[in-house]
Amino acid sequence: MSKNHSSKRNLGLPTRVIHEGQHPCPMTGAVSPAIFQTSTFAFESAAQGAARFAGEEDGYIYTRMGNPTISKLEQNIAALEGGFGGMGTSSGMAAVCTNLFAFLNAGDHIVATESLYGPSRVVVERDFSRFGVEYSFVDTSDPKNVEAAMRSNTKLLFIETPANPTSKITDIEECSSVAKKHGAVTIVDNTFCSPILQRPLELGADVVMHSMTKFINGHTDVVAGMIVPKSEEHFKKLRSTLNFLGGTMDPHQAWLVLRGAKTLHLRVTRCQENAIKAASFLEEHPAVDWVRYPGLESHPQYELAKKQMDGPGALISFSLKGGIEAGRKLLENMHIATLAVSLGGIETLIQHPASMTHATMTKESRQKAGITDGLVRVSIGCEDINDILEDFRQGLAV
Ligand SMILES: *Cc1c(COP(=O)(O)O)cnc(C)c1O
Repeated sequence: MSKNHSSKRNLGLPTRVIHEGQHPCPMTGAVSPAIFQTSTFAFESAAQGAARFAGEEDGYIYTRMGNPTISKLEQNIAALEGGFGGMGTSSGMAAVCTNLFAFLNAGDHIVATESLYGPSRVVVERDFSRFGVEYSFVDTSDPKNVEAAMRSNTKLLFIETPANPTSKITDIEECSSVAKKHGAVTIVDNTFCSPILQRPLELGADVVMHSMTKFINGHTDVVAGMIVPKSEEHFKKLRSTLNFLGGTMDPHQAWLVLRGAKTLHLRVTRCQENAIKAASFLEEHPAVDWVRYPGLESHPQYELAKKQMDGPGALISFSLKGGIEAGRKLLENMHIATLAVSLGGIETLIQHPASMTHATMTKESRQKAGITDGLVRVSIGCEDINDILEDFRQGLAV
């Protein structure tokens, strides 16, 4: 059920996004999957119930442990990422926490990207430290920093690439092999790319996770997450943790994400086309100090981005010459771009990391992670590019 029986590996990604794990209902012919809005599943006999609990027979037991609607989504994303199986979670943070719970014990050490998604960093620094887990946040865009941070008790390497909002790229292949050498498991938060643009398991990572709230769902109307490990061993460990920890999906939530995921390729392609044009526009604008976007040759890791990613994505960071005040004015004067956190939706969203997503970090650690006060981050959407550029033009003129 959880194992990915993909037979579609040789098809193109736009086809696989739509068809992996999906087939019409054998009973009714319904093309769209049913929403199995049930908490529990009846057994035909006590013996069958016992066999399912013992794992001797495939089949559903209770929705916290698996559900046919959720399975459809899990099979889809797991196939796209090239993993053993997928696990839908109630949110991206449930995916983060399930990973940390599954792999860390008291006295262990974790190495992570310093500008990790704010709440992921808080969970490590504030909560896992209470249980005796040690941590090192380093600039993983240089593998030497990862090597230097490794200790005898390092059990996890947690990477986010491109990093938010610095756009720094971490070499997944290089860093996974450093972790492997030290016996640590590598987890990649692939939220910013989606499997359309980056497939970390193909590059040597052990586990990939997503906030499906972002690109995979893509319609700014659902919060959800996904975990996809490469091996059966890690799948079993994570599935067991998730079943007991309880951060599982709801069938209706899974159905909504599945619906969004059908257009993942279309949306990512369109957002990216727009972002490439917007990044060039911003780079030329006299009010802009600098732009960080993996699709610009000015990006310090332009070559690595080209090697590791199938495209530069839709997220752009830039800094205004006028600093924090200019940033505030721009954010308040954009008419098409919406002032909101989150990313990866069909609409363009703009935000100010120092006062929003990364406000939980101290100013000192923000500075250290390259998050300056004047930095603005934009997630380019699927609108008409001319309208997006005009919005920037008039916003920057203020
Ligand atoms: C949003 C986000 C998360 C958390 O996901 P939620 O669905 O909001 O819980 C984790 N990682 C990254 C990179 C994100 O952007």
